[in-house]
Amino acid sequence: MATMRVVTAPKVAPMKVAEISKPGAAFQIVEREIPEPGPGHVRIKVQACGVCHSDVLTKEGLWPGIQFPRVPGHEVAGLIDEVGPGVSAWNKDQRVGVGWHGGQDGTCRECRRGDFRNCRNLKIPGISYDGGYQEYMVAPVEALAAIPEALSDTDAAPLLCAGITTYNSLRHSGALPGDLVAVQGIGGLGHLGIQFAQKFGYKVAAIGRGSEKAALAKRLGASVYIDSTSTNAADALQKLGGAQVILATAPSSKAMSELIDGLGPNGKLMVIGATFDPIEVTPIQLISGSRSIQGWSTGTPADSEDTLRFSELTGVRPMIETYPLERAEEAYARMMSGKAQFRVVLTM
Ligand SMILES: [Zn+2]
Ligand SMILES: [Zn+2]
Repeated sequence: MATMRVVTAPKVAPMKVAEISKPGAAFQIVEREIPEPGPGHVRIKVQACGVCHSDVLTKEGLWPGIQFPRVPGHEVAGLIDEVGPGVSAWNKDQRVGVGWHGGQDGTCRECRRGDFRNCRNLKIPGISYDGGYQEYMVAPVEALAAIPEALSDTDAAPLLCAGITTYNSLRHSGALPGDLVAVQGIGGLGHLGIQFAQKFGYKVAAIGRGSEKAALAKRLGASVYIDSTSTNAADALQKLGGAQVILATAPSSKAMSELIDGLGPNGKLMVIGATFDPIEVTPIQLISGSRSIQGWSTGTPADSEDTLRFSELTGVRPMIETYPLERAEEAYARMMSGKAQFRVVLTM
C-alpha cells in the first residue's frame, strides 16, 4: 500500500500593509496574503498613495460604523494586476487611480438620477474597505479612473482627492474666464486650486497668512497676493471689484467668515476646507448682492479622469514629499503637522 503524502499548497507571497488596528492606534506594518478580486472588482498593484487629512477619519475611527483593522488611503495610483469575474472594460496592466469616490450603490434616489457623487451609500476607500496604504488593493470598477500616460504615479495620487476637489468645485462654481477668483489658503488644496484657477482663465487672488508665501503663490499663477495678517482681505478683494468666487481651502471657519464681505454681486463662497466649526454669516451679508455659500465634495471617477487629463494637458502638478510605505506613521505625522510642502505621498 502506498504511503499517503501530504501535499501543501504553494505558499502565497505575502504583501506589506500599513494598517490601523483600532481607533487612535499607530500604524502597524503587517504582512497579509495578496487578496483576490471578486466579481466586478480588480486588484491594483499600488505604486503610490497620497496621505490626505481625511485619513484622520480612519486613524481616529471618526467615521460612523468603520471597522478595524483598516488600511487607510483614498489617493491611490497603480496598475491593474488582476481582474475579477465579469470585468470587461478594464485590463490587466492598465494604469488606474482610486479617489474618495470608492463606488456607488446604483440604486438610491441620487444614483437613479445620475448624481453618483452624492450617492447615499457611497463607499469610501480606506473607510468602507481597505485603501491604498498597501502593496495590493482590491477595488470595484465603479471606483476606477484611468491615469494618462504623461502623469507619474506620485503626481497622479494627490490629484485624485486634493486635485479633483479643487478642479471640480471651481469648474462648477459659475466663475467665467476673466472673473476674479480668490483662493484662501496656500496648502495641500490651495496650491492646486491656484494652478487650476489660473489655467481656467480667472484672475487669481491668493490669500495666505504672512508674506512668505507671496512668491510661491505668484509662481503658481496668482496675479495678486493678499497677506491676511497685515491686510483686511475682504476689503482688498472689494478694491479689486469683489470676488466672483472665493475657494475656501484652509480649514478655518473664522478665516472663511471674514472673507464673505469680499464677495462681489452674485459671488459665491465655495467651501472645501473641512472643519466642524460654524461659519458665521448674517442674512444681510447674503441678501445684499445675492451672495451664496456652497460646499463641495470631490467627484466621480469620471471627474477624476477629467482632472488628470486637464493636468496632463496644462502642466498642473502637485508639490509633493514622498515616503516609503514602511514609514507611513512618519508620513502621516508630517501631513498632520501642516508643514508638508504640500502633499505627502507614500510609495510602494
Ligand atoms: Zn482626501
Ligand atoms: Zn446611490
